[in-house]
Parts: sequence; structure tokens; C-alpha cells
Amino acid sequence: MADTPELHIVGGGMAGSEAAWQAANQGVRVVIHEMRPHVGTFAHKTGDLAEMVCSNSFRSDDDEQNAVGLLHWEMRQAGGLIMEMADSNALPAGGALAVDRDGFSAAVTERLRAHPNVRVEAGEISELPTDGHWIIATGPLTSEGLGQAIARETGAEALAFFDAIAPIVYADSLDMDVIWAQSRYDKGETEEEQKAYLNCPMTKDQYEAFIDALLAADKTEFHEGETAGYFDGCLPIEVMAERGRETLRHGPMKPVGLTNAHKPDEKAYAVVQLRRDNALGTLYNLVGFQTKMKYGAQADVFKTIPGLENARFARLGGIHRNTFLNSPTLLDNQMRLRSRPHIRFAGQITGVEGYVESSAMGLLAGRMAAAELAGRDLPPPPPETAMGALIHHITGGAEAKTFQPMNVNFGLFPPLDGVKGGRRNRKDRYKGYTDRAKLLWSDWLRSAELDLARTA
Ligand SMILES: Cc1cc2nc3c(=O)[nH]c(=O)nc-3n(C[C@H](O)[C@H](O)[C@H](O)COP(=O)(O)OP(=O)(O)OC[C@H]3O[C@@H](n4cnc5c(N)ncnc54)[C@H](O)[C@@H]3O)c2cc1C
Repeated sequence: MADTPELHIVGGGMAGSEAAWQAANQGVRVVIHEMRPHVGTFAHKTGDLAEMVCSNSFRSDDDEQNAVGLLHWEMRQAGGLIMEMADSNALPAGGALAVDRDGFSAAVTERLRAHPNVRVEAGEISELPTDGHWIIATGPLTSEGLGQAIARETGAEALAFFDAIAPIVYADSLDMDVIWAQSRYDKGETEEEQKAYLNCPMTKDQYEAFIDALLAADKTEFHEGETAGYFDGCLPIEVMAERGRETLRHGPMKPVGLTNAHKPDEKAYAVVQLRRDNALGTLYNLVGFQTKMKYGAQADVFKTIPGLENARFARLGGIHRNTFLNSPTLLDNQMRLRSRPHIRFAGQITGVEGYVESSAMGLLAGRMAAAELAGRDLPPPPPETAMGALIHHITGGAEAKTFQPMNVNFGLFPPLDGVKGGRRNRKDRYKGYTDRAKLLWSDWLRSAELDLARTA
């Protein structure tokens, strides 16, 4: 396929990297245009491809009971680069897939740079291309110039909202006479897995004082005209506290499945969990503690957590912008911009949310673009698969008027015949969803490979 036109991918993040890998493996010559390190964002710190800007977790790796775990499975079956590099840089994290962020993005960068069909060009693209074959995967922090160009093309549909970053502390500043290591319900096969989390226990009085401090803390205010909506999966802790004094105790601070190793007879009223953030084990993040408190207030409030009195922060939390399209109205079912079909979009900018979902949409965009360049038709995967559920949602299934970024979840899947709803049947239902998805995803992949072989 040496004479096929090049595929240009704007943005070498999670989606752009995966899209490049998939297309290049199908013989397409790919150019990745990545603006870093020449032009930065407030969240990225390196010039590497596929940098993880916040948590180091790809979330649950359970492919039988969890929709994101199923997405992992589907990407692995499709030879996904992001999953392969995540697996080879995995850190112990109970049932979750956490990775050493530096090792992970260095490995993705190395593999792509070494690929004979891939070229990486440093530089910002700030206009929409008028011809050629393009995938735009510039993510939640799309540069201002390109953002404006997209807005000019699409009208007012591209909009912004805010998430919040969780803080990271240095391991050697933690008080291990108070904190103990244990994964919830001792989950995991090895001792390392079973002790993947560090736990900070709170009594009722300490918890109540913590909630008071959160409610009283100085928060970052939004500028006039900014949209301050939050995505429910990523609520700042102070917003959770505002929703009710018990909300955190039933969310990230729930004390269940844990026994205080220092005081086995004392049941904690609430627990703050820390998860390893790098392979060396020198950094830990506060799990689920996204926040928009001002920096000074954060240090004061977090140091009231037992065991963190002398904590040093490698990074404090923060708020950030998220650029995304109103995909249900703007994109067709191949993720092509209806008004300029030579341009596809992929990743978080299409209105999915998270590293895994963004990579997944990159995987599909890369394969779809490669098929199109070879004159083949690659239909989207069936909606019963995790990939299919997501792409169907963003390109048509979602309500356009109220469209907001979406994580993969079983609510996006068509219902199962003959399996009752309700909490009691949840396990069977989830297993039913994942069994059905695996069969259909394998069929879809097989028929795509057959098509590829026929036209090669
Ligand atoms: C502060 C913050 C915290 C987050 N925390 C989490 C989290 O904890 N867990 C999670 O799962 N997700 C998190 N997300 C979302 C996560 O970043 C995305 O889901 C994921 O990285 C999106 O992948 P992507 O490829 O779409 O975008 P990105 O990974 O951001 O990649 C986009 C790339 O495009 C480049 N780029 C932008 N504009 C241009 C241009 N004009 N020309 C050339 N290159 C350009 C950028 O430099 C970047 O490398 C967070 C996002 C932000 C902003």
C-alpha cells in the first residue's frame, strides 16, 4: 500500500497514538502532529506521546462484571497498543489496572517512533485542513487556535466544562504508624496486590471536622460565562460534601472491606485511600479526591487527614477545561465530520470520557480511516459490544440537546433478552452483557480481518 495517501493525525495522546498504531499496522503511512513540547498545556508535563495527565489508573480490569474491564478486553483482542503498554507497565492496584505513567508513555512513544509507517512531526495544527485524510484527536485541552477553528466550522456546539485533579503526595512523608496497606476486601492474587492501597482511618469526630473544613475552604471560582457543570464520575470532594455530609462516607471515603492493621478492634468511621502513582512507589495519589479548592486551602485541609499531618505534595489538585463536540449532531457513524467528511474526530473531543474510552475511540477511528483509504467499508461494531455501545452513543444514541461526556457503562448496552433487572440479578446480567459482547466483538474483528485479507 506504498502509494496510498498519508493519514494525518492531530494529537499524539491516548486516542491519536492508538489510531496511528492501528492504521500503521494496516499498511497506512501515518503522520502524527503533536504540539508538545513546543506548545504545552497546563496539565501535560512532558513531550511524550500518550501522557497520563492525572490519575495513573485505567480503572477496573474485570472483563466479566465491569464495562471498562470489557473495553480493556476488546482492545487487547484488537492488538491495541495502549493496552499492551499498560499491561507491560502495570502496578499492583487490587482489581484495577494502574500503570507507571512515565514507563507507559515512554513505551508508547518508543513503539510508535520505531514503526516504519509512522512519522511524528512536532507542531501545532491551528486550522482545519481543507484536503487529505485527517483524524483530529486533540483531547480535552485542544489548543486555542484549533478550538476556535473547530468552533467556526461547527457553530456554538463545542463547549467547555470542568473536571478536577486529585493531589499526589510523597510516600516518605506519610505516617505509617497510623496508615496501613490493604486493598479493599484484600482483593488481588499476590500479597503486593492485596496491599496495593494505603489507608488513612478517621473517627467520627475527625470525619465531621474534615467535612466542616471542606465546606469552609476557599474554592476556585469560575469566570463569568464559564460553564461550571461537573461530570458525575469526577465530582470534586467539596462538591460531594455540599451534596450531603454523608456523601463522601458512601463514596471515596467508605470504610468497608478494611481492617486497621494497627488497631484491629477499632472500626474506622471513614477511610481516605492512597494509591501508588509510580513504579518506584515514591508517590501516592489520594483516590477520588479531585478538588477545586485553592492550593493553600488544600494543603491545610488534607493535612488534617490522620497520617497526612506532615505530607508533602508532589502535585495539588486543580480544575481544568474540557473541549468536546456535540457529536450526535456533528459526526456520522464513522466519526467523520458531516460538513467535512475527510476529517474524523477521535478521543475525548468526541464526548467520551477517560483514558480508556478515548483510546478505544482512537482504535476505531484508526481502523475506519485505514479501511476507507483502502476502499473498504468498515461498519461500526455492534452496539452490544463496549466499543459499539460507545460509538453508537456519541454518534447518535445520546440526546443531542443535553449531550455530555460519557464513560462506558452497561446502561449504554441494549438490554439482554430474558434476564431480569434489579440488584439481585446484577451479577448474572453483567456476565450476560460481557459474554454477549465478547462473541460479537470477536465476530466483528474476524470479519474486518477477512475483508482486509481479501483486499490486501
Ligand atoms: C487535567 C485533566 C485530568 C484528567 N484526569 C483523568 C483521569 O484521572 N482519568 C482519566 O481516565 N481521564 C482523565 N482525564 C481525561 C483524559 O485526559 C482523557 O480522557 C484522555 O487523555 C483523552 O485522550 P485524548 O487522546 O482524547 O486526548 P489527550 O490524551 O489529551 O491527547 C491530545 C493530544 O493532542 C495534543 N494537541 C492538542 N491540540 C493540538 C493541536 N492543535 N495540534 C497538535 N497537537 C495538539 C495535546 O498536546 C495532546 O498530546 C483528564 C483530563 C484532564 C484535562
